[in-house]
Amino acid sequence: MANHNPKMNDSTAVSDFSVDGLLNLLRSQGMRVTRSRRGILQALFKATRPLSLQEIQQQALVEGGMLPDYATVFRMMILLENLRIVHKVNLRRSCSYYELTNPSKHYDHLVCVECGKVLLLDSPCPVHEAQERIEREFGFTGLQHSLEFFGKCRECSSGVSARVAAQVPA
Ligand SMILES: [Zn+2]
Ligand SMILES: [Zn+2]
Repeated sequence: MANHNPKMNDSTAVSDFSVDGLLNLLRSQGMRVTRSRRGILQALFKATRPLSLQEIQQQALVEGGMLPDYATVFRMMILLENLRIVHKVNLRRSCSYYELTNPSKHYDHLVCVECGKVLLLDSPCPVHEAQERIEREFGFTGLQHSLEFFGKCRECSSGVSARVAAQVPA
């Protein structure tokens, strides 16, 4: 049986974490690099927050202005998840959100429960030391995490949600 799930113990196995580097990885797994697949990766690299499948589809405009079909996006994300190139973020919403698992970047999130804004907390990681302690204590190596902090953003706390404010005509 052909095995398309490579044995990868951690995501740092990708030496060149870029659109082209990841396309090379897909090729090395015997996959064809289609325009849709390239478009999906480009959308993920451009994103400044986790994206839903629908958002990935909308932002993965391939050459000629075509959207990849939803099934293609769905299958591609499962594939990328198996390769540990992306991971799912829940954000307490009904659908899953995805983002890259770039080993040189950090993915903790600050989520506003009122307006839905998502900010990435890239530095410094609030639990870096705790993770090192857990590694020592439990004898684990290569621990990863993705945190989600939920609360009200500054605008929403002050009573005017960003979404409502944006809709008020000047
Ligand atoms: Zn807010
Ligand atoms: Zn962190």
